Amino acid sequence: MTAGLREDPGLWLLLHLRRPGDRRRDRQGTCSVCGWSGRQLYSSWVLSRQLARRWGDALAARESLFCERCGCSLRVRRIASVLVDLYAGGATTLAELVREDAFRALRIAEINSIGRMHPFLAEAPGLTHVEYPEEDIQALSFDDERFDLVLTSETLEHVPDPHLALRETYRVLRPGGRHVFTVPVDPSLTATRSRSGLAPEHHGRGGGPFGLVTRRADMLAHTDFGRDLPEIVGAAGFDVHTDGEGIELVVIATRPAERA
Ligand SMILES: [Zn+2]
Repeated sequence: MTAGLREDPGLWLLLHLRRPGDRRRDRQGTCSVCGWSGRQLYSSWVLSRQLARRWGDALAARESLFCERCGCSLRVRRIASVLVDLYAGGATTLAELVREDAFRALRIAEINSIGRMHPFLAEAPGLTHVEYPEEDIQALSFDDERFDLVLTSETLEHVPDPHLALRETYRVLRPGGRHVFTVPVDPSLTATRSRSGLAPEHHGRGGGPFGLVTRRADMLAHTDFGRDLPEIVGAAGFDVHTDGEGIELVVIATRPAERA
């Protein structure tokens, strides 16, 4: 266990208190955040019973498969891989990337800490870290074109108006800057929909014994993103690229260098 994990007793418990059988879904791999090669620990208890019913094993895998050393989940490692692909000179991990001068020169906004990646990102001198809803992503307090890179993970689905939020991240990016993010995408939905009128769905609560505690506050989901996610992002003005498939999707939204 690293010092980082000691600071997060909830995660430490998730790694050590697992449903019998989860161990069989562990993987071996190299962590794109810290560089550790070893076990990645699956936990079905990262999801509430409600979320497990709707999303199943694929979302549990994405939200767990925790790196045994730094505690980053598969989702967080996916974002780190994309950042390495986009920005690295020779770095192969986020831990190395934050030591490269070009990355250290970037003005970065991390809106809601990206799990256990946050302590690594915090080494970048250009990082501005804020938390929604204290900082409203639908009405950001930052000047136009302030950032080179905006990062969000599992945030836009919790915002009443994600279209407005995307227009705001566009506004605070310089031309050519990028908003790299994840949201859960439901492959059975052709069109993104508001959840108003649907049964409330909360994220942040676990299953099994973790149903009794919240790792973060319960967060109501306002939007179910569907397969039209790229068009939704494009409508805010971005050029849209995606990396990965299905539940592992990472969106790379670039503010065009020159306005059309
Ligand atoms: Zn790691």
